[in-house]
Amino acid sequence: MTVAVIGAGMAGAAAANTLTMAGLPVEVFDKGRSPGGRMSSKRSGDRYLDLGAQYFTARSAPFQQQLEHWLAEGVVNCWQAKCYKFEFGQLASSEDLTPRFIGKPSMQAPVRSLLGNTPLRLNCRISRLRYQQISPATTAGGWYLFDQHNSQFGPYQAVILTLPPVQLQTLLATLFQPGESGYADIHQLLLQLQPQILLPCWAVNLQLTEPIQTRADAVFVKEGNVSWLARQNSKPGRPTAAENWLVHFSPQCSVLHLHARPSELAALAKAELEMIFEQSVSVTDVLTHRWLYAQINPALTQRKPDYHQRLKLSVAGDWLMGGRVENAYLSGVAAANEVIADV
Ligand SMILES: Cc1cc2nc3c(=O)[nH]c(=O)nc-3n(C[C@H](O)[C@H](O)[C@H](O)COP(=O)(O)OP(=O)(O)OC[C@H]3O[C@@H](n4cnc5c(N)ncnc54)[C@H](O)[C@@H]3O)c2cc1C
Repeated sequence: MTVAVIGAGMAGAAAANTLTMAGLPVEVFDKGRSPGGRMSSKRSGDRYLDLGAQYFTARSAPFQQQLEHWLAEGVVNCWQAKCYKFEFGQLASSEDLTPRFIGKPSMQAPVRSLLGNTPLRLNCRISRLRYQQISPATTAGGWYLFDQHNSQFGPYQAVILTLPPVQLQTLLATLFQPGESGYADIHQLLLQLQPQILLPCWAVNLQLTEPIQTRADAVFVKEGNVSWLARQNSKPGRPTAAENWLVHFSPQCSVLHLHARPSELAALAKAELEMIFEQSVSVTDVLTHRWLYAQINPALTQRKPDYHQRLKLSVAGDWLMGGRVENAYLSGVAAANEVIADV
């Protein structure tokens, strides 16, 4: 019987790929219009602009191996960014020479590559789950999924959930009523989740009339309202003639302005660019995105919930392993291996 994977970000795609390689049929569901999740580039005219993950690094052997595949396949490029940092009011070259990688032509490309031909339902928000005890005699039963239109999918033998924790809590809360078999287990799992482990981030892309006069391609901003700046047109495989700077606001500033209008964030982003590079800029186009669940809250730790053998339920996502694309991948592979070992 088939395994259902909810979420087609890096964790879900890595899980689906691992299951497929092990010969298990898989179906993947995502509420978005395309796979990728927080690895997201938006097409704007002739170019892709990265609004979520900016790049990824590969530190572990399994992920380095995967990276080799992607490089050979041509879906990933190395971004040799000249990195700077802004600290104590000063812009200085950063000695950080870590190799950085980006999807080609967009951040979604390596996710799409992992998904391959796996059946994928997009625009499909799973809003309810139902579990029916599998009958040993008939093998009937298993997991049923319901989308926003109450369409039913399933049954599935096992399910892997790769949603951010707040969305995961909402979904799991639909599963059992008090007194039903399984309620106590799920209630226990819900208690383990740290909803605040992922903090918000406002992203603003500014297209400028003139290039900023700087050697920097990217800046780690250590103080003030923003956390990161990147010259999008310095990324290989992002064909754009115009100068585009992406601004990520810090978690503190993003929380403070969570319900602000995008135009207010755009004005603030322009002011930040001018302050950091000490030159005035003229903006011709703006793209904004508010990520509600973006990057890890360093003040919290999250233990991975145990695999639930009776229900055949596993949870994956970057937030279980400290954030970042690489950890999303590793957690997806780990969740798939739990299922593979069990079925
Ligand atoms: C602004 C920003 C900057 C970042 N910068 C970096 C960086 O430079 N380097 C780095 O390594 N990492 C970075 N990250 C983190 C990186 O993007 C994540 O670690 C990684 O993409 C997480 O993958 P995931 O599969 O765990 O989660 P996600 O990508 O969030 O995937 C979860 C998926 O579940 C789907 N979903 C949610 N609810 C439902 C539902 N009810 N039904 C169906 N589908 C649902 C979502 O649509 C989504 O596609 C950044 C993230 C953000 C937002």
